[in-house]
Amino acid sequence: MLQIHQFPCLSDNYGFLIHDPVTGATAAIDTPDAEEIMRQADAKGWRITDIWNTHWHPDHAGGNAAVKAKTSAVVTGPKEVERIGTPLDRVVDQGDRVKLGNIEAQVLNVGGHTLGHIAYVFDAEKVAFVGDALFSLGCGRLFEGTPDQMWASLQKIAALPDDATLYCAHEYTQSNARFAITIDPCNRALQARIAEIDKLRAEGKPTVPMTLRVEKETNPFLRAPLLKGAVMLPNATDVEAFADIRKRKDNFKG
Ligand code: ZN
Ligand code: FE
Repeated sequence: MLQIHQFPCLSDNYGFLIHDPVTGATAAIDTPDAEEIMRQADAKGWRITDIWNTHWHPDHAGGNAAVKAKTSAVVTGPKEVERIGTPLDRVVDQGDRVKLGNIEAQVLNVGGHTLGHIAYVFDAEKVAFVGDALFSLGCGRLFEGTPDQMWASLQKIAALPDDATLYCAHEYTQSNARFAITIDPCNRALQARIAEIDKLRAEGKPTVPMTLRVEKETNPFLRAPLLKGAVMLPNATDVEAFADIRKRKDNFKG
């Protein structure tokens, strides 16, 4: 059974260590903060054997070299990670399969935030690590990709089982909520989710992971096809509506 240890690091990142108790294999999903990752692994008594990167940004791959130096971990990720000078032991892309001990995950290309951004999906466990592609009530900013690419990527995530558990890489949920409610003010599920988020954060608890079903009911980016009227683009395509909502979020001062 896959064991997942989540911990906050840097200003608003989450680190994840995933562990196969049968073989002892342990992967760091991204390396936002090498020191904290090593400390957390030690505290769990887990020896890091792998690094699985989602994309090249320094708050995701910046700790690769330091973690590898200490652990000799095998580094797996999309080719673009080599841009920041981290050689990869294994380059992966859409359709590839990776293994943590005996537990298998598939790789989805969910580019858009960066061109080669990937997600790791444990199908049997219904667990996905989505990096900065999808956030709770949000999605990654389009630094490199186009709205078409990002929309296609979000559709891949949306096609996972509704009860899938999604682990995103940042605690952005409360600020995402402030935007979401301006676009979709009458959505009862969103109102309820915001109340839940505010309570969790007031108690110092994470809003991550989240359930795909709840995101489908509340996330204004996944709901773009239903929000065309709300953004006054009744005749827009789904991608056009998504692009408009993404642009509004970029300009939102909340
Ligand atoms: Zn990023
Ligand atoms: Fe990030």
